[in-house]
Amino acid sequence: MVVVSFDQFRGDYPRQFEAVFPTQGGFRRLMKEGATFTSCRYEHANNITGPGHATLLTGCYPARTGIVGNDFCDVMKGRCGYCAQDTNGIFSAANLRVPTLGDLLRKRSSASKVIGIAIKDRAAILMAGRSATACVWYDAAGRRWTSSAAYPQPPWLRGLNTTVNADRYVGATWTPIVASDRPDSVDGEGAFPGGTNAFPHRILDPSHPKFMASVLISPFSMEMLFDATKQVIDRERLGRDAAPDILCVGVSTTDYAGHVFGPDSREVQDMYARADRHVANLVDHLDRTVGRANYVLAVTSDHGVAPIPEIIQRQAEQQRATIDAGRIREVEIQTRIDSALSKIFGQLAPGTSYVREIFEPSIYLNWDRLGSAEPHRVVDATVRAVASHPGIGIALNAEAIHSGVRPSAIDDKTWSYIRHSTFAGRTGDVVMYPKQYWIIGGNAATHGTPYDYDRWVPMMIFGGGTSAATYDDECAPVDLAPTLARMLGLDLGEVDGRPLPLNTPTRRRR
Ligand SMILES: [Zn+2]
Repeated sequence: MVVVSFDQFRGDYPRQFEAVFPTQGGFRRLMKEGATFTSCRYEHANNITGPGHATLLTGCYPARTGIVGNDFCDVMKGRCGYCAQDTNGIFSAANLRVPTLGDLLRKRSSASKVIGIAIKDRAAILMAGRSATACVWYDAAGRRWTSSAAYPQPPWLRGLNTTVNADRYVGATWTPIVASDRPDSVDGEGAFPGGTNAFPHRILDPSHPKFMASVLISPFSMEMLFDATKQVIDRERLGRDAAPDILCVGVSTTDYAGHVFGPDSREVQDMYARADRHVANLVDHLDRTVGRANYVLAVTSDHGVAPIPEIIQRQAEQQRATIDAGRIREVEIQTRIDSALSKIFGQLAPGTSYVREIFEPSIYLNWDRLGSAEPHRVVDATVRAVASHPGIGIALNAEAIHSGVRPSAIDDKTWSYIRHSTFAGRTGDVVMYPKQYWIIGGNAATHGTPYDYDRWVPMMIFGGGTSAATYDDECAPVDLAPTLARMLGLDLGEVDGRPLPLNTPTRRRR
């Protein structure tokens, strides 16, 4: 069972980029010969990498997984940290509050292998789970594939680093592989590290501090990931015996490039044309080593992405129209909160703040500085301060979310997505989301909201006897794990998803 998550692969991309896919055997083959779900949307609002990947292999919303953000604070322990690190700083799935499909498979059969591999540690870790037999990711600072003390050290790790490394791309240049009518250089796009927003993009000198950043954002890091994945399939002999194995692959490159160049860029289009080649190649590899009937390949994503606000604003102006779009900097939110709270609860010493952390969508307050102030007054004042920003669409007291009473300004569906994103003790004091077409932060493009462009992802299931079919009915990524669990004859327990209506021959547990 192979799950490939292309980070920031929006639901419209497969059809939009179909004309430039260079092969018949990649995404086209998946869409033609596999089961394709065209209306697959996350049902949580915090659509970022940690929560998305935690959802994919557990079948649970962040309200159950506990992964409410890439970073979050544990309110009871008073500790803030990274979603894929334990209290000792070791990279692990310790924060994940539910088992992954791999965890349950390992519990049933110790002969089964569960492997996570990605460029981003959190993608590999949160998909594979705690009891993975190997979990590896790319350590950009150390310029090597790595794992942690939470997992067994794979015997092939050294060999992987010898053969699949960034040194291969010293002096390389990224030029597009497909003809396109998309403009290459657009105001509002970000720039390639050490370069511009226009092709060709040159990999920096290895002594340059941004060398690794230039490799990661280029299709070369995607090539590294797929080369590594094939090597792992071979070295671990995955899918070759009676015990089923799970391989989770996180393709982070697409997110790095998407944040800088945006969804409408020539770069992102070229990235998915190259992704198509890698998918074709992976399918060929699996066909050859495992056999089409003996594997299932699921291709999906952890979230979508919003258009670059400055670009859609300009497009609207050119058509003599206006669009309510824009960008919010975290410091603007913090300043508004500090200014409002200072008036009520006292001036702050210079260089201090009433805000402890902003980990979107959560805002955590610095209660130590608020003394005996009544918590509900503090939170209400914070909500008003956040809501006063013209780009903020939703600002809520987290207590109010837990209480379940929907504010009249929020529709039923959005309210359910917000509730699914909330985990008591980890969600901040106040939760905020921008208005549609507004984004938070300095990345040219980003995601993390309850809007369609962030929720919609592809969902393709191929192989293992899955019949060709296109399903337009609404489904959700929480349905993937129950679907795969049913194929494996595993009981996921109480989860948020339900099995997708695949036409597959019933396979008995061996
Ligand atoms: Zn992501």
